[in-house]
Amino acid sequence: MEQVRVRFAPSPTGYLHIGGARTALYNWFFARQNQGKLILRIEDTDSERIKEDSVGQILDSLEWLGIDWDEGPGRGGDSGPYFQSQRKNLYTSAAKTLIQSGKAYYCFCAEDELKAERERQRQEGVPFRYNRKCRDLSPDEVHKLLEQGIEPVVRIKLPDSGQMVVNDLIRGKVSFNYDQLDDFIIIKSNGLPTYNFACVVDDHEMQISHVIRAEEHLSNTPKQQYTYEALGYVIPQFAHISMILAPDRSKLSKRHGATSVSEFKEMGCLPEAITNYLTLLGWSPPEEQSEIFSTEQTIRNFSLDQVSKTAAVYDINKLIWLNGQYMNSYDLEKLAYHALPFLIREGLVDNDTADQNRDYIRSVIKAVRERVKTLQELAEACRYFFQDVTDYDEKGREKYFRQKASEDLLIKCRERLADIEVFNAENTEKAYRDLIEELGIKGGLIIHPTRLALTGRTASPGLFDVMTILGKEKCLERLDQAIWFIKTDKANKDEVQGVMSSINKNYS
Ligand code: GLU
Repeated sequence: MEQVRVRFAPSPTGYLHIGGARTALYNWFFARQNQGKLILRIEDTDSERIKEDSVGQILDSLEWLGIDWDEGPGRGGDSGPYFQSQRKNLYTSAAKTLIQSGKAYYCFCAEDELKAERERQRQEGVPFRYNRKCRDLSPDEVHKLLEQGIEPVVRIKLPDSGQMVVNDLIRGKVSFNYDQLDDFIIIKSNGLPTYNFACVVDDHEMQISHVIRAEEHLSNTPKQQYTYEALGYVIPQFAHISMILAPDRSKLSKRHGATSVSEFKEMGCLPEAITNYLTLLGWSPPEEQSEIFSTEQTIRNFSLDQVSKTAAVYDINKLIWLNGQYMNSYDLEKLAYHALPFLIREGLVDNDTADQNRDYIRSVIKAVRERVKTLQELAEACRYFFQDVTDYDEKGREKYFRQKASEDLLIKCRERLADIEVFNAENTEKAYRDLIEELGIKGGLIIHPTRLALTGRTASPGLFDVMTILGKEKCLERLDQAIWFIKTDKANKDEVQGVMSSINKNYS
């Protein structure tokens, strides 16, 4: 088999969208599975649609997802340049070849003329097709018009009738009638190529063997296939991946919330969870395999004929669920690496001291990871490990601090904890168990108020793990604060909080 060469060819019109990311992923899987090459090409000839910075954003997102292209921006390669805006000569020369062989022609029709024609056809209720007015101009007429300085477009000459059959690796044979296709423009009046033309010239020049892209381009494929034929190029294999729809089955757009890779990153998703999720959006793993799988597994098992012909429906809850699974099983070092920016952003960790507190940060992450689904949730769940407790959960306060015995019980807990020399989960748990037994009370009577005292919350990782991480001194301080709070709870709430923050100031 010839070498597999596939490409991902984004237009720099914004962030990397999940649809684009999925296309990139499928190309990457296919390249890696076949020991082929993935080429990254930036389709930036449509200056009106280009957004500044978007190339950088797209490259960052691809790298963050772990998609490593072999040729393209930042990598080089023999088929460069990899920005279409720098390849103009190639398109001009291919267009000339077509004009010379009579397979393309200059069209001098003015925009106004075309507009009027469009309107006329609209009123007749037919889809617009260029009326081919310039198709049969004689060389002399063309020469004259060029001399007059009119800037023409170049149009390809399509057959009047017959069919073009596209052989799609996912959809099988798809036929298109020529009488429904237009003599489409290949070079615009500004000298730049249209997408359909640049794409063919580049896919040929870059020796692309398989064009794997979004379904929305299926309707462009007959035009491109005709162009390959007209230029005498070898036609690559095509595979069009079905659309991704919003949960309401409409076209996925901004109004459906986060749809770009960078937004998911911001929300606290892990790259592997996103790649796993996107892989599932349109491809099913072998039956015996679970829905959670690594890139290596996908590279082994991926096949284009298992890619779905029907649209995939995007489900953010599934992505978040998957992310939670990854948060739980992820390598702790890697999780800490991804979590750190979130801890810094929440003001919990200082960039300069993060290294010194490495072990502490890891023990906190290890304790809370099971309880959260995103890195953002993780940062929120960690707060009391890094900051003083300045408030208590309202319901918790009602339930656990308003009981008559709470104050006395917490005083007893404090005494027991103060006596512990080696302050670890085993010893703190033993101290609590002993106390429960001695007092003949239900464990919850001291466990819940202690949790509220130490964390300000009613839910946390295992209480004795929390104690171990916080350490003896912090635990005693927080119990003192809670005991004081219960005592003065009759006082005005604002006043109590004011005093609490001054207590906290004294601690630090
Ligand atoms: N620039 C096109 C896009 O972003 C690429 C289409 C193709 O892969 O041929 O949709």
